[in-house]
Amino acid sequence: MSRFWNQRVHTLKPYIPGEQPRMAKLVKLNTNESPYGPSPRALEAIKASADDTLRLYPDPTALALRTAIAAQANVPVECIFVGNGSDEVLAHTFRALFQDDAPVLFSDVTYGFYPIYCQLFGLTYRTIPLRDDFTIATEDYEGPTGGIIIANPNANTGISLPLPAIESLLQRVSEQVVVIDEAYVDFGGESAISLIDRYPNLLVIRTFSKSSGLAGLRVGYAIGSPPLIEGLTRVKDSFNSYPLSRPAQVGAEASIRDEAWLKQTTARIITTRERIITALQKRGMEVLPSTANFILVHHPSCSAAHIFTALRERAIIVRHQGDSPRISDWLRITIGTDEEMDSLLTALDDILPR
Ligand SMILES: *Cc1c(COP(=O)(O)O)cnc(C)c1O
Repeated sequence: MSRFWNQRVHTLKPYIPGEQPRMAKLVKLNTNESPYGPSPRALEAIKASADDTLRLYPDPTALALRTAIAAQANVPVECIFVGNGSDEVLAHTFRALFQDDAPVLFSDVTYGFYPIYCQLFGLTYRTIPLRDDFTIATEDYEGPTGGIIIANPNANTGISLPLPAIESLLQRVSEQVVVIDEAYVDFGGESAISLIDRYPNLLVIRTFSKSSGLAGLRVGYAIGSPPLIEGLTRVKDSFNSYPLSRPAQVGAEASIRDEAWLKQTTARIITTRERIITALQKRGMEVLPSTANFILVHHPSCSAAHIFTALRERAIIVRHQGDSPRISDWLRITIGTDEEMDSLLTALDDILPR
């Protein structure tokens, strides 16, 4: 607290990112990064960009990158917005496209940034409970709303929402923007991009941080009808004209062109995920059905807090969100390499009661 702060800052409850510890030989399974890293072509492009041209500002419209994304998504370039990580794209979305006169709606278990952006931008919100099995009940998204946001696959649960459920929501809600945050879609979810043509109020948000292995580069994007993109661009150009550096623009562009790398690395992660789910179930753990690069797990007799601490003592870091009531006794574990997951299993054999 400081008297020098603006009044608004006193009441903020900032997002607490997963830790990035500087321990050696750490098995880091807490922030859903890719164990395989970016496309080698992206790395080459980033290295090649480290030259004298860095004295020049980057393209404020990131046209080359947006054109590559548009080609891949099969939409016109006017339908693409890019930002400094999808967190920034989300922030601009809350600011530009959600209304103040009714609450923003999102799940009671989802990405922790949504309530924080509401607070930052003075929007009210209402959380909609997931069903008992942690699936999203889109029929419950009703009543006055200033906009709706759904992570699909959902953050923290990893569970996918089938496309018909999203479409039926869009058939009911046409006056407010519906955002689908597809940070994890490449690991087995179904994208809503195909609906953009028919629903001008649909915005799909994606990131290079998870499946493309570029969390450190900070690039995310949105796909939607040109009026939505124009709204986002107005806010962006009132905040920071150059959110993406030159290395970020060329790196992300090379990354999206290397579809083979994406396919190959996501397929490996999916195979590992399925193996680990079975192995954890054999050890008595409950595992939610994941289509993401992480799993949410629970043990009937051994508390999440205990497992978290015991793993940490063995230099394995997972995510425990103890202050999130419905999942306070659950752990979120990122799918790493097979070797990393084997050390997780070995550690759990040591920790869990037999
Ligand atoms: C990781 C994540 C993001 C943020 O990704 P960045 O592009 O790294 O900012 C957004 N939404 C969800 C659901 C995520 O899990």
